Amino acid sequence: MKINKLPDVFQQAMPVLKKLEDAGFEAYFVGGSVRDILLHRHIHDVDIASSAYPEEVKNLFEKSIDTGIQHGTVTVLFDGNSYEITTFRTESGYQDYRRPDHVTFVQNLDEDLKRRDFTINALAMDTQGNIIDLFNGLDDLDKKIIRAVGDPEKRFHEDALRMMRAVRLMSQLNFNLEENTNQAVADHHQLLKKISVERIREEFVKMGLGKNARQAFKIFLETKLSEDVPDFEGKKKLLSVFPKLKFSPTEETSLWAIVIILLKLPNEKIHRFMRDWKNSNSMTDEVERIVNFFDTLSGHTPTDYELFQVGKKTLLNTIDVANILGQPVDSEALVDRYVALPIKEDSELAIDGKDLIDYGIKPGPKLGSLLNEIKQNVIERKLPNNENSIKDFLEKKTEL
Ligand code: ATP
Ligand code: MG
Repeated sequence: MKINKLPDVFQQAMPVLKKLEDAGFEAYFVGGSVRDILLHRHIHDVDIASSAYPEEVKNLFEKSIDTGIQHGTVTVLFDGNSYEITTFRTESGYQDYRRPDHVTFVQNLDEDLKRRDFTINALAMDTQGNIIDLFNGLDDLDKKIIRAVGDPEKRFHEDALRMMRAVRLMSQLNFNLEENTNQAVADHHQLLKKISVERIREEFVKMGLGKNARQAFKIFLETKLSEDVPDFEGKKKLLSVFPKLKFSPTEETSLWAIVIILLKLPNEKIHRFMRDWKNSNSMTDEVERIVNFFDTLSGHTPTDYELFQVGKKTLLNTIDVANILGQPVDSEALVDRYVALPIKEDSELAIDGKDLIDYGIKPGPKLGSLLNEIKQNVIERKLPNNENSIKDFLEKKTEL
């Protein structure tokens, strides 16, 4: 098979491959980017594989970065773009079902393609646009199938993360898992316990945000991969709602909030859960706000003060979560009410703490609660947001 009209990113990268070839090396486009041209997906970066050793690559290009030089990867900067060039390699010495401890450079492309995880990811393309397909990846692309290269059991024992990569690719590409590959995941899901949470997390998030997340999540549960990730053990029943959601989440905050809501985690366990999954503090804080406001929305129509407190971003995120979960909310009315709030930030209040001190109120907790009372009255439209009205309000209060 030959591709005649290559997308721009490949055209731009072509001189890099040609430069390697002119110096007597082999060079190909490999991996996900070749798969993505054939699927007409957006291509974010192209990976290049070459027979040149890292040092040889570095000598050939003016600017380069040692991205992962011990694994054979050098990033070269060319014409304002950066490209990862990886020396043909095999991987050996897999320990603990994790990444290999060392790689062996090899002189031909075939060996390099053999180490790749799935047939659709083991395609290469030369400078003429010819596709090299050693494992019938093109056929699997047509059939929309994720199939391990070689014996799936062996491949998952080498690197158990591949099982998570399988379900995330299913989700992103809207593909099915080939039967033997699926069986091998179901038989060996426990191997995932050996993989770091950070790596699992990355694949889990990509799975959860892919266009076919619901179907992929189903396989994630059915194969019991879900039993070997943080805090999901024994929760299959609760999580089985995910495949039945109205649609798949597109925001990471929504994904985590939905999972937490389905797991029925009490408020005090949210932080622990998010930490177990190695989420950042800012992600954790936002997800906690969303889950709490979702609770508010499920209980009653929020007051203006509650809308003010939650803020626009969290309001929109929570509406997104409610929609995905099929929880009825009048999103338009909520947003309209938010937009119409007299103030949206503390700083928009006509007075501040310093003004109160000028009016003779002593600094301390009382001042804080007085300021809050003013704010609440302004938001509930009981007090106009201007200095005179607020002054009158304070005078009346101190007269009492
Ligand atoms: P994405 O679009 O998310 O970048 P990708 O397929 O390019 O998808 P990468 O993680 O960028 O995924 O990996 C690039 C290529 O490296 C893959 O297409 C595959 O050929 C190979 N690869 C990545 N991870 C593994 C692994 N764990 N085992 C074997 N091969 C792998
Ligand atoms: Mg990639």
